[in-house]
Amino acid sequence: MQLHCFGTAGYHSSESRHTSSYYLPESGIALDAGSGFFRLGESLKIDSLDILITHAHLDHILGLTYLLDATLFKRTTCVRIWGEAEKLRAIRDHLFHPLLFPAPLDAEWHEISVGDHWKIGDVDVTCRGQQHPGGSLAYRLDWPTGKRLVYCTDTTGDTSQVHADWSRHADLLIHECYFPDSNSQWAETTGHSWTSRVAEVAKGSQPKQLLLTHLNPSEESLPESEVAKLRQQLDAEVVVASDHLCVEF
Ligand SMILES: [Zn+2]
Ligand SMILES: [Zn+2]
Repeated sequence: MQLHCFGTAGYHSSESRHTSSYYLPESGIALDAGSGFFRLGESLKIDSLDILITHAHLDHILGLTYLLDATLFKRTTCVRIWGEAEKLRAIRDHLFHPLLFPAPLDAEWHEISVGDHWKIGDVDVTCRGQQHPGGSLAYRLDWPTGKRLVYCTDTTGDTSQVHADWSRHADLLIHECYFPDSNSQWAETTGHSWTSRVAEVAKGSQPKQLLLTHLNPSEESLPESEVAKLRQQLDAEVVVASDHLCVEF
């Protein structure tokens, strides 16, 4: 199974990173649609595209406006966008307001709620609520082969036993790590994660591979000393995401 990293920054684009957007080509599923979503382009050669939206902050949805290429030129026959009702409403009313965007988007909008469980093709999908301004969703994807992916971004990091049980033994845990430990106070104030908090979450859920994402675009990467700290504490393979990276899991 492959995960393509189209955008790995939080907040805004930088010279080396676009904002949050990931794609699972074998299943036609995208995780968020930030500014990196334009990279979907030619790699979209599947009948349907399902986009799981964590929340409606711009760094996760801006790229929905880049979908016109795919829908107009029929690179895909069906686009489905999944998210909480009030977030989808905000996107449709504001991002796709005729004064902001010139054409209606040919897509199905699917409202989901915290705790829902549904199927996309042969993939079981479920979601949990997370602590973040306005709230966000964590997603868990389970394939019939037994592969499991968990995506947690824009969260202060859920260290509860319930979350550990829900996310246990993922082949790939994608977790945001916007702040180093020195800025943990800021992380809590803005609803984001810091290195030691990510370590705590990963110790609970015990993933095989941990991909650190939603990085601060003002820095080139997470400081090497912070990554080393995580590697010392975890059995998991720890990878810092970068745009264009293809992760095998
Ligand atoms: Zn974000
Ligand atoms: Zn956010």
